[in-house]
Amino acid sequence: MSGPLRVAIVGSGPAGMYAAKHLLAGFGGKGPKVAVEVDMLDRLPTPYGLIRHGVAPDHPEKKKAASVFDEVADFSGFRFFGNLELGRDVKADELAQWYDAVIYATGASGDAHLEIPGEDLTGSLSAREFVAWYNGHPDFNGVAPDLSGERAVVVGNGNVAMDVARILSTDPDVLAKTDISDTALAALRNSRIREVVVLGRRDAQHAAFKNPELEEFDELNGVDIVVEGDDLAEVRGADATTARKLDTLRRYAKRGATGNPRRIVLRFLASPVEVRGEGHVDALVVGRNRLEPGPDGQVVARPSGETKVIETGLVLRAVGYFGTELPGLPFDASSGTIPNREGRVVDGEATVSSVYVTGWAKRGPQGIIGTNKKCARDTVRSFLADATAGSLHTAGTLSRTDVEKALRERQSHVVDIAGWRRIDDVERTAGRSQGRPRVKLSDLGELLRVSAG
Ligand SMILES: Cc1cc2nc3c(=O)[nH]c(=O)nc-3n(C[C@H](O)[C@H](O)[C@H](O)COP(=O)(O)OP(=O)(O)OC[C@H]3O[C@@H](n4cnc5c(N)ncnc54)[C@H](O)[C@@H]3O)c2cc1C
Repeated sequence: MSGPLRVAIVGSGPAGMYAAKHLLAGFGGKGPKVAVEVDMLDRLPTPYGLIRHGVAPDHPEKKKAASVFDEVADFSGFRFFGNLELGRDVKADELAQWYDAVIYATGASGDAHLEIPGEDLTGSLSAREFVAWYNGHPDFNGVAPDLSGERAVVVGNGNVAMDVARILSTDPDVLAKTDISDTALAALRNSRIREVVVLGRRDAQHAAFKNPELEEFDELNGVDIVVEGDDLAEVRGADATTARKLDTLRRYAKRGATGNPRRIVLRFLASPVEVRGEGHVDALVVGRNRLEPGPDGQVVARPSGETKVIETGLVLRAVGYFGTELPGLPFDASSGTIPNREGRVVDGEATVSSVYVTGWAKRGPQGIIGTNKKCARDTVRSFLADATAGSLHTAGTLSRTDVEKALRERQSHVVDIAGWRRIDDVERTAGRSQGRPRVKLSDLGELLRVSAG
């Protein structure tokens, strides 16, 4: 092996960032046995993936992980090629040819579906679209959720659902101190929504949300928390986390409605049956569930036959992100992932030489930012083992200079590190004068203009 191996990482979210760090800085500071250079590609002009476009704006502490990108950006062997999309600008087989190895860290950019009538009516959005809108994702600037009604219904009660309910219920003056998109902030200032109903298909003890998100509701000014559909009875043998969750819910239930102008209703044992409306959502039919023993000692929710109609103009479906197929790469449609063995991409039984995957594209849309650190480490370990064994496909790859030329021929508006730093600087400077971490640019044309200086 002569020079360093050249690795392309597609996707600059947590999984891509951690993979780059493991490759360039080594594990625990010991350094990899193989010298590498990393080119990171992203379809957006900005790095960070869901740290920028998923994590809620009122959770700035969770965004600190973005500093991993800044760390790797300081390595001389690292380059960023933003605004360069796999599929649109460059093909998977070209990257495989040009680089010694390619690691896909493309996340999950689609939605799980409810599979009920009316799901796609105007006024019914996935939480993914809503979250991307309030976080200033350039593809979702035009989402314009209808906030003119008094009630919104969030389907699902995982942490994304809790984020969405909290953002809809938070005083806009509080949000104005965050990096929420200006478009969303203006819309939320005019919002008439006073009640957010959060539906969970199972009972309270099996709710998907975590305690910290539940307890955060307590900090919302002017918001009552109402619990419906579960009597919150003592659960014998409940673990500490479940017991605490139930205690918090009991506290909310005991306090009940206190006349605050807004409220969040946590309704359990409830599933959507039909989204109704003529051209636009005007109601959601909700079925009451009962629980039955399921496989592996789990309980499953089954419809009891009892239904109720909730009037609403906005339904937000927070039942999960789901991976979409990337052109030229194998895809497992049942899990929405790129099939792999220990991070090595496989096509049927065969391993696709020198091609790897990490993060949500590998595991499916589960796990927090930190989960991707170990996931990326496992994938990088597989790469290093293959590199050491001499099994990478290295014949005919392009030089560092030639690959940059090839990429820039495909996309004349590539955003490099200097371009991203210009965007970062403009956003942070605008934020400082308003007491905010940054004021995000969310228009693609503007992002590209600013990146070009
Ligand atoms: C709403 C929401 C809130 C969350 N909040 C938290 C939280 O508070 N704390 C926490 O720890 N975790 C949180 N998470 C989880 C965390 O965001 C994920 O674990 C993590 O982002 C997954 O990392 P990833 O790199 O696999 O995917 P992503 O972060 O999605 O990154 C994928 C990257 O690939 C790029 N890409 C996709 N397709 C292409 C293509 N064709 N060509 C080029 N580039 C492409 C995308 O632009 C993106 O930059 C949250 C998740 C969501 C959805």
